[in-house]
Amino acid sequence: MAGPLTTAPQRVAVVGAGWAGLAAAVELVDAGHAVTLIDMAAQPGGRARSTPSTTLPQQDNGQHILIGAYRDTLAMMRRVGVDPDAVLLRTRLSLRDPQGRGLALGGGPATVAFALGVLRWQDCPWPDRLALLRLALGWRLGGFRCEPDQSVQEFAQGCPPSVYQALLEPLCVAALNTPAPQASAQVMLTVLRDALFGGPGSADLLLPRAPLDALFPRPALAWLMQRGVAWHPRRPVRQLRPAPGAGWQVDDLPPVDQVVLACSATEAARLVHPLAPHWSRQALAIRYQPIATAWIDAPPARWTAPMLRLSDGPAQFAFDLSALGGPPGCFTLVASGAADLAAQGAAAAGQALLAHWQRCFGPDARLRSVRIEKRATFACTPGLARPAARVAPSLWAAGDYVEGPYPATLEGAVRTGRQVALAVAASGAGQVLGMKSPST
Ligand SMILES: Cc1cc2nc3c(=O)[nH]c(=O)nc-3n(C[C@H](O)[C@H](O)[C@H](O)COP(=O)(O)OP(=O)(O)OC[C@H]3O[C@@H](n4cnc5c(N)ncnc54)[C@H](O)[C@@H]3O)c2cc1C
Repeated sequence: MAGPLTTAPQRVAVVGAGWAGLAAAVELVDAGHAVTLIDMAAQPGGRARSTPSTTLPQQDNGQHILIGAYRDTLAMMRRVGVDPDAVLLRTRLSLRDPQGRGLALGGGPATVAFALGVLRWQDCPWPDRLALLRLALGWRLGGFRCEPDQSVQEFAQGCPPSVYQALLEPLCVAALNTPAPQASAQVMLTVLRDALFGGPGSADLLLPRAPLDALFPRPALAWLMQRGVAWHPRRPVRQLRPAPGAGWQVDDLPPVDQVVLACSATEAARLVHPLAPHWSRQALAIRYQPIATAWIDAPPARWTAPMLRLSDGPAQFAFDLSALGGPPGCFTLVASGAADLAAQGAAAAGQALLAHWQRCFGPDARLRSVRIEKRATFACTPGLARPAARVAPSLWAAGDYVEGPYPATLEGAVRTGRQVALAVAASGAGQVLGMKSPST
């Protein structure tokens, strides 16, 4: 919670009602500020939204996974009245494939759970298990730090191939949505630190068993509107300019004291271009990675876990939606870092994913639909300079791409939203909260 108001109430426009914008708005309202929330879409949620579909009552924009270490996201959900235990299925981290091969963790303190999981990893040769434990000890002793320009592949030199292929590579592409040869080892180490070696349960998988909308976006919007937030859906913001005197003019809306740009990096770059050229250039320099999700109908299966790791094909993970409150015999396949697949177009990508399914689980399957999000997340490459949260005085940016230790995730988005809201309050009081200034 932001705590009691220590500054004059600010009028704040939040542009973008994805998870970052919603988190910022909740924090701002709790601190007593007057918030206007604007989005070009009809509904909140951004990339983590659900929409009605022709084949399912509600279809998510793509299969999402949360983990126990998503501390701020889970806290935000609770703040707007959502019980995470009711909408998320919590399971221990399992990276097992359809044949039951792979690492699976048990319960207990994180380090103990990891060590026991490695020791019990039966299909991994003993020398490789011991090598992994030595590696993990090295990460820990090194403070989970490495050279900023190292890729995950370079960093993993010396890691046994079995461990690389069955653990580091799938974790990297799942968490960073960037293939290991191009992915930042430093960000990967941060994820490993917080997930595998955080508090108890931090590595747990939290799998949505309700549409993404119900996890946070809809309840957050209802919570905000009950508290007087002005909500403007279907309203693409076209222009941002300094208001006469002070503050900002967002299109033809009433002027505000501060603005939080929680829209995409590209849109934020466009809106601030003449005002903050360096920030704008940094935001425009970001590159993206696609994610493809295929929905498959197949005979109901009895899997050992709702999520299985796949290899030898474009998808890395398969999910049994019937174990997650979905219809029986409905599954998803997820291909992250899917630039090659996306380049083929949706129809060919769908067929490639269906063929991968059939190789893994048998021929009796039908492709229900496929969705390719070309700009699913930023490409989390080594040494990437991400734009700062402070764009200019009283102008802020929130979103998964904004400078921070995490890859593009719901947790990264929510954290920047919260931090920017706290900085808005502090800047209103003339304080500095440790947010970095841009060199415009
Ligand atoms: C297919 C897929 C799978 C993913 N899987 C996972 C996962 O398993 N786990 C995980 O943690 N993360 C996952 N992610 C990433 C996660 O969805 C994002 O990190 C998160 O949703 C980003 O939120 P955001 O608020 O920063 O941005 P966005 O969600 O992009 O929100 C930006 C909002 O701004 C609005 N907007 C843009 N321009 C304007 C404008 N000019 N005027 C008004 N409004 C505007 C947009 O409509 C949008 O609502 C996945 C993403 C995708 C696409």
